Amino acid sequence: MKKIVKTVTAVLTAALLLTGCGGGSAPKETANEDAAQDYALVKEHTIIVGTNAEFPPFEFMDDNGEFDGFDIAVMKEVGNRMGMNVEVSNMEFKSLIGAMEANQLDVIAAAMTVTEDRKKSVDFTDSYYTARQYIVVQKDNSEIQSFADLDGKKIAVQEGTTGDFTASGEGSVNVVKDADVKRFKKGADAIMDLKNGSVDAVVIDMNPAMEFVNANDDLKIVEDETETEEYAFAVRKGNTQLIEAINNCLAEMKEDGTFDSLIEQYINE
Ligand code: GLN
Repeated sequence: MKKIVKTVTAVLTAALLLTGCGGGSAPKETANEDAAQDYALVKEHTIIVGTNAEFPPFEFMDDNGEFDGFDIAVMKEVGNRMGMNVEVSNMEFKSLIGAMEANQLDVIAAAMTVTEDRKKSVDFTDSYYTARQYIVVQKDNSEIQSFADLDGKKIAVQEGTTGDFTASGEGSVNVVKDADVKRFKKGADAIMDLKNGSVDAVVIDMNPAMEFVNANDDLKIVEDETETEEYAFAVRKGNTQLIEAINNCLAEMKEDGTFDSLIEQYINE
């Protein structure tokens, strides 16, 4: 009896792999391996997704205290298609890569920009969104009209982000010089500091910038030409089957319109 149950489970697993956006290889001939092993997951049949749920519209907590946002919705859909559970783990943005290196996360879904430095620690899926940095200032500020105008200014940022690198003079285009950079764990706290006049500006990714400005009448956006950035999901180094499965799922979702409808729902609403 036990043997029969096992065989049935194995067949189911194989079917999941077949329909589960590929996974980079055909199911094993013996079909007796767990999907968890095929995708090198931390926990069987569960994709543990690390995020920082303070970056709307990509990730945030909804009114019922549930994780929501574009990245969360995409990863839930990827999990569905792969036949895996998705568990979300919330932490500071700058702790995500370390947690992945410590084997606590399978995927980082956090509007994370692909950078050469991060590529040393994690592998990235195909890009799913193109963004850039925006400057947020108080509405009555007429002095700051470009990144060049931020030289020597007080700038609040979210620690360890591309906004931080830009404000700290580590960006490659429109590098800000000699700014006094105040680093916060949350973008919302950087925005509070701007509202109470402690800093001259916030540098942050364009979509959260627009969300914060929409929610705060006293603030406005300053746009300037900047290099674009690509968001991608990160996986542990060498977890190629998981990358391929996610990439295949993303391609499938683009093909059948699911991806665009999530863009409409969360980003272009
Ligand atoms: N895209 C930015 C980065 O990767 C910010 C991401 C975030 O704060 N969640 O650094």
